[in-house]
Amino acid sequence: MFFDQIPGRSEVKEYLKQTIRQQRVPHAQLFCGPEGSGALSLALAFATQLMCEKPTDSGACGECPSCRKNTHWAHPDVHVTFPTIGAQTKSADVIQLWREGFQKQPFMTMTEWFALQEADNKQGGINKDECLHMLKTLQMKSFESGKKIWIIWGAEYLGKEGNRLLKLIEEPTPDTYILLVAEEIQDLLPTIVSRCQVLKIKPYPEQEISDYLVSTYHLERHEAIQIASYAEGDMHRAIQMAQEDEQQQAPLLWLPWFQYCLQAKTAQVLELNGTIEQLGREKVKQWVQFGLGFLRMILLLRKGVDQTATLSDAAKKLVQFGIQGLTEENIIQMMDDLTELESQVERNGQIRLLLLARYVRWRQWIAEQRATKAA
Ligand SMILES: [Zn+2]
Repeated sequence: MFFDQIPGRSEVKEYLKQTIRQQRVPHAQLFCGPEGSGALSLALAFATQLMCEKPTDSGACGECPSCRKNTHWAHPDVHVTFPTIGAQTKSADVIQLWREGFQKQPFMTMTEWFALQEADNKQGGINKDECLHMLKTLQMKSFESGKKIWIIWGAEYLGKEGNRLLKLIEEPTPDTYILLVAEEIQDLLPTIVSRCQVLKIKPYPEQEISDYLVSTYHLERHEAIQIASYAEGDMHRAIQMAQEDEQQQAPLLWLPWFQYCLQAKTAQVLELNGTIEQLGREKVKQWVQFGLGFLRMILLLRKGVDQTATLSDAAKKLVQFGIQGLTEENIIQMMDDLTELESQVERNGQIRLLLLARYVRWRQWIAEQRATKAA
């Protein structure tokens, strides 16, 4: 993990880099921040930078043997401890699982980590064996750089076992750096806290969350701002909401597509066809399903059966628009055509062209109906 992989947090990053430049890195540091604040990522990036053989002003070089090992989580002098399930399970026993979880989601929560371990309702903790292993390992000479770093994620899970580490934290072996990561200071033994330099990490500012959602999840600015305001500084929650939004995207794109189609807005339809194609085949099938359900609703409403209660106001308006502009025959033709689209998508048809063909046909059907009516 490198500092520039972590969104925002420029002040904390600068402070941490400065302590390295000025060679006043405390031997025991507590990174204390709530869920989704990036405390663990910051500790890991700090370790990378501290180990880097050729750090630059902007951060760890990324190229020296030490950085390369840290990129692959393979530095023999950087260790990580975290809560595990079972009195005998040490962190090293499940490190591969942990790495995978963290790489997939750098804002991984403790709940997610326990779920990965299939903890069910079993209590997790940092056990005695892990603490003894840590003490023993740190007494050995470092393998490479001379420095040794031990990161303890979920330090509150040390419980009373934390007493075993008091001496180590107070007088660490030479060139040893202990980085504890916790959410709440009051859940730690006061004797541990008093021996650490505490770095408080605040929840993310809304601006940093929305910037990240726009750049990484390609959200529209207004959507990103809305999510950021709901997330209350928790980047993890914001990312989850952005991902849900992405899943919702396929059905939601039906509404503008159908509206443009009814209004004969060719340029907009062409652009939207490209966006829909990019969602991939599975999502396009969802789009078709939603479209079928929507057309069915219009059909039923024409017969007096109202199933539009759960629709948004904009969607309800579009239903009304459809009722006025389409005949029953139109709607049935369109539904058949959408069903056909689904099987063509399954057979690897060109989505953009298939959508364009629908648009052209549907416009024609609407025009024919209008001509019949007028005559
Ligand atoms: Zn380096």
